[in-house]
Amino acid sequence: MIIAYVELETDKEYRYQYKIVSEKSEENFDCEPAMVYYETNIANEIMKSSAYEKEEFVFNQQHYKIALLLTEKRFNVYNKYAIRKVDLTSGKPVEIIVYKSKALCPACKKNNREMNLENVIATVRCLLNLNDTCEIEIQHCKNCDTYFVEEQSLKEYEKKYGLLLFERVTESNFSGYGYDEFCGNFAKDTILSRYGYVAQAEKMNVDSRRAILSFLIDQGHKSEIKNILSSFIYNRSERCYKACSIWESDLRFVNEYDSEHDDYVGLGWLTRL
Ligand SMILES: [Zn+2]
Repeated sequence: MIIAYVELETDKEYRYQYKIVSEKSEENFDCEPAMVYYETNIANEIMKSSAYEKEEFVFNQQHYKIALLLTEKRFNVYNKYAIRKVDLTSGKPVEIIVYKSKALCPACKKNNREMNLENVIATVRCLLNLNDTCEIEIQHCKNCDTYFVEEQSLKEYEKKYGLLLFERVTESNFSGYGYDEFCGNFAKDTILSRYGYVAQAEKMNVDSRRAILSFLIDQGHKSEIKNILSSFIYNRSERCYKACSIWESDLRFVNEYDSEHDDYVGLGWLTRL
């Protein structure tokens, strides 16, 4: 995919034209203008200049002036210098769509709208240590004001930092196509699945599951979680016999969890001694 067209001038008034492409396989120096992969040094200099709004740069001891730069909307997604920082740790957890490929906004794609994407460095919380934060690179669509992250990158981040705290929406949920939540995989539209809860011992250990449950209970979702787990146990215990014992033990945990939100009983507040 061509993400930019550029014309460069040197002091000797040579003029060079390039097209910057997003895939290595599209690189081609034999055509006119040459197709240059975005990670090559010269493209890198152009991207850096564009992000810092500079019209000139020096490369290999040669001075270049950017005479013309036409960029496609996705240009900034590939431009590692054009990165805004956002803090997603305060307030209500933000929804992030987990998507299979980079440089796509699912909502814009679905509605055939032109995308307006940027990369952002997002500060998010780590679920197992709520006092800790980490920074991950995600994408943001300025048209829709939605955030999304590529599935593979998220996996890498979570390998490094552990489970991250945000409300995740998977591509299949988002596009509205059915995706069977068989045996505790990402379920469609339950708050548990949106926080990454999985009732499979090999995918998620008990500490992580309970960290999610505790967090959500503290956010005031206790009765919702009890309803979800009860309905999982009731409706799926036969085909998901392995997950069922996990749901049962997690439901016991939820029932016994002592949250601030339990203290309110109708007419007044109970005081905890
Ligand atoms: Zn969009």
